[in-house]
Amino acid sequence: MSSFTPKLFVISGPSGAGKGTLLARVREHMPQLGLTVSATTRAPRVGEVDGVSYHFLTPKEFERRVCAGEFLEWAQVHEHCYGTLLSDVKEQLASGSSVMLEIDVQGALQVKDRYPDAVLIFIEPPTLNELRRRLESRGTESAQSIDTRMANAVHELELASRYDERIINDELNEASASLISLLTRYERS
Ligand code: ADP
Ligand code: 5GP
Repeated sequence: MSSFTPKLFVISGPSGAGKGTLLARVREHMPQLGLTVSATTRAPRVGEVDGVSYHFLTPKEFERRVCAGEFLEWAQVHEHCYGTLLSDVKEQLASGSSVMLEIDVQGALQVKDRYPDAVLIFIEPPTLNELRRRLESRGTESAQSIDTRMANAVHELELASRYDERIINDELNEASASLISLLTRYERS
């Protein structure tokens, strides 16, 4: 008989590594996996919906929530603040669902301090050249923002050794199959 334990999963990796793409595949196979909606001070991109993509907050409102202790973790990433609401995670775990946070490395390490059983998964691009190519082909960032993301990627990759698991997103089908099997294994452990 297989048993199931709700787990807190954290996925990070440089912007453009393919986290969003992989998570969309994971959701198709594991629709029961809970996702959280982060808060951010950055402006919505075209097509992003408040309360669905992110909770888009003013810097003042974000700071108020930091002071009120509403975030499980928060960090400044690139030029803006991002954070995970503690209530969101607690409610989903209490209802028996595993939860997946897609957050940056600073936030991931904060989560591990508060929830040592959290499983930290790092998504790596095959090469830095391929990472730049993916960011350029996604077409959502200015040239300057791509340069910032590439510079941050080098620091983020240095922290990958602090993660429990690492997946190289080279061939998409292979990487998504590895991620799904890894998540399933942890839920059954
Ligand atoms: P992230 O969420 O990590 O910022 P995305 O999921 O938005 O990254 O992926 C960045 C770009 O790279 C997108 O255009 C996506 O279609 C593409 N991409 C993702 N995974 C792969 C892959 N394995 N091979 C080629 N292109 C990929
Ligand atoms: P984007 O602006 O491209 O949506 O996200 C930029 C970065 O912010 C990504 O690396 C993403 O993982 C990170 N991020 C998104 N939400 C959160 C969050 O709630 N907390 C932290 N620490 N990082 C986040």
